Amino acid sequence: MQRHHYTASALLFAGLIVSVIASREFLSMYAPDPVFPSDHCSSQRMLSDYSSGIRGTAGDTPVYIFDSGEPGATILLLGGTHPNETAGSIAATIVTENARPVKGRLIVVPQACASGFTATDPLEGFPTHFTLTTKSGERTFRFGSRGGNPIHQWPDPLVYRHYPSGQQLSGLESRNLNRSYPGKEDGTFMQQVGHAFVRLIEQEKVDVAFDLHEAAPEVMIINAIITHEKGNDIAANAVLNLEFEDLKYSLEISPKNFHGLSHREWGDATPVIPFLMETSNPIQGRLRGVTNEALILEGNDPFYRTAAELGNVRITYEKEGEPLSLRVARHLQGFRTLVAAFNEQFPEKSVLVEGIPDYQAVLQQGAGSFLK
Ligand SMILES: [Zn+2]
Repeated sequence: MQRHHYTASALLFAGLIVSVIASREFLSMYAPDPVFPSDHCSSQRMLSDYSSGIRGTAGDTPVYIFDSGEPGATILLLGGTHPNETAGSIAATIVTENARPVKGRLIVVPQACASGFTATDPLEGFPTHFTLTTKSGERTFRFGSRGGNPIHQWPDPLVYRHYPSGQQLSGLESRNLNRSYPGKEDGTFMQQVGHAFVRLIEQEKVDVAFDLHEAAPEVMIINAIITHEKGNDIAANAVLNLEFEDLKYSLEISPKNFHGLSHREWGDATPVIPFLMETSNPIQGRLRGVTNEALILEGNDPFYRTAAELGNVRITYEKEGEPLSLRVARHLQGFRTLVAAFNEQFPEKSVLVEGIPDYQAVLQQGAGSFLK
């Protein structure tokens, strides 16, 4: 009898230790990743300044505004719509920390889906954090999940019905910010976040907006620029110019009947011209093997290399994989080239932002060296 007591106490104690360790790891994901905006940041607001319903919730997130004081268009750049698509939020963070506006205005939100940065997707074995080496030391960022944290919106419905189209999607998508536009002021948590972004676009009179993503190498839309039909000419021009630099981007037109996405709903609901860009990220793929921090940073997975050699993935998977610096460099170059193409089409509204590192610089020096 006595032995049973010892066993029970030992198990209870072991359980306590495991839960202390696990809860520390869970709680570490609530510590925000610091962002150090450049000296040219003219004001910092919060997303809830545009729609007060999300104030004080896990959906609120910083908004960095760079106003040159000179006339020109207003550009919005979002990273972290899907937090586990690391190149998007890191590219937007680099822009925030280096931007020097010369004409027009730039607004950056490096972590658009703040809730999704507080958890990782279950059953995927994802690391919670990754570390980049900057010129003055190391900096750690959260990896996050595709959708919002289920703690902030629970439970998932069996079927998610998009508002206002009524289009039906898998219940999981109810926590996906990029299925929640144009949003709803008194809707679900994620619809309220989506609504706040549409209000930001309206109130700030944004002319062009960018949403930075990544996808698994086996996904069809990879290394792509997806445009609302309003931006067809700008996107086509940019894809050609990128081709001259030996950078291949496929041009995809946003389907009119696929609802909830930024490149569709922002463009339909407001005067903005929206673009969404995708790079190729092996850690999101189903073919991947060992899932660790190195895979986030180096994007080098032997199974994807084999798949590429067999011609089974659409992108050319270089020998060295798809490292974060390459993915960030592509996002920054795509952004820069699309802005230039916008300026060509609307010279009277042209916008100029200096300080954003170019493709070769990011590739050669690494994304971390452009972070403070
Ligand atoms: Zn995405």
